[in-house]
Amino acid sequence: MTVATPEGTVISPGRVNLLGEHVDYNDGVVLPAAIDRSVKIIFKKNDSRLVSLKAVDLQDQCVIHLSHLEKKTSQEGKPLPDWALYPAGVMWSLQRHGLDLIGFDAQFSSNIPIGAGLSSSAAIEVGFAVVCMSLCGWQLERLELAKLCQQAEREYVGVNCGLMDQFACACGVEDHVVMFDTRSLASQTLPLPPATTLVIADSSLRRSLLTSAYNDRRRDCESVVAYFNQLDPSIRSLRDLGEERLLAHEHALPPAAFRHARHVVEEISRVNQAIDLLKEKDARGFGRLMFSSHDSLRDLFEVSRPELDILVDIAAGFDGCLGSRLTGAGFGGSTVSLVLDEKSDAFIHQLRDLYQKQTGLQAVVFSTRASRGAHLNPD
Ligand code: ADP
Ligand code: MG
Repeated sequence: MTVATPEGTVISPGRVNLLGEHVDYNDGVVLPAAIDRSVKIIFKKNDSRLVSLKAVDLQDQCVIHLSHLEKKTSQEGKPLPDWALYPAGVMWSLQRHGLDLIGFDAQFSSNIPIGAGLSSSAAIEVGFAVVCMSLCGWQLERLELAKLCQQAEREYVGVNCGLMDQFACACGVEDHVVMFDTRSLASQTLPLPPATTLVIADSSLRRSLLTSAYNDRRRDCESVVAYFNQLDPSIRSLRDLGEERLLAHEHALPPAAFRHARHVVEEISRVNQAIDLLKEKDARGFGRLMFSSHDSLRDLFEVSRPELDILVDIAAGFDGCLGSRLTGAGFGGSTVSLVLDEKSDAFIHQLRDLYQKQTGLQAVVFSTRASRGAHLNPD
């Protein structure tokens, strides 16, 4: 029997995806890690049916009634501010799952860059799910918790996301990558290569055109699956399609859909190779796959931007950087690089300086460690 915690602090991390981009809605395997940037939520139960929320970074607050979450309004009947949809959506999703909630006061702040491909939104969702679990005394498996948070983002906030973000925020392990199979939902942790550091560079460009391009790409992937499914009903997703078979049908597919599907099929096979390389502790081999992934996202899947290419080109020219690629959906956001430990400080400076010289933009560049998933602190 779990004891409810009437007050406390929850730490909930962002995530970075090291390999396996745009494969999560094609039944592929992804390789994310939770990062050491996080949302911090301080909470206290208040013996009412009201949840009082304060977004410290935005200097905004609102009060929500637990019996009227589906209305998406505050207690005074005003539409919820956008940021409040994430915690409210999680509470809505937990209730719909049959879990009882109690009123509480919470304030939260975060050092995860917003809209940079590092899942500041999933960190909030998973963090509030852990708050509710701690306050109310029931238990949920981490996978279940991630799924309920994903449902909140899809059905309440209205963003058609995969399960990777919430899973990584919920299940991260220190110094490990979380291998997550989006078809079977099986997972396994693998140590990051020894003597290496992850460096994230937020290009400072916020994603534009993302929703329409994301939907276009999804549609292309579905149309290629539909084509092959008619020939062979056992093909239910791009994961079921080998590269050879796809290439043999190039002439029959619209060129853009073919290119986009090719990225997915090759990226799925890159992840398989990467898992073996991680097991062999082959950091250089893993890094080479990161570079190939970027090339493919740029040339085949067409979701890069010149600024992200510049960040990766600078990284490729740096002795001691083993791999680099855009991470997240693309069209802006961040790159992630794998760098030898002893070179990481010099790498960070060089990336920042050269990017500024070449683009006139300031990138926020920082090293990060793979970290633990959302948890009560201390627990
Ligand atoms: P990301 O890639 O960072 O997850 P999203 O667009 O999915 O980008 O989510 C960003 C949204 O999450 C913000 O627009 C805001 O509503 C919410 N959010 C993120 N960080 C904070 C924060 N520190 N305080 C309040 N809301 C936040
Ligand atoms: Mg998000």
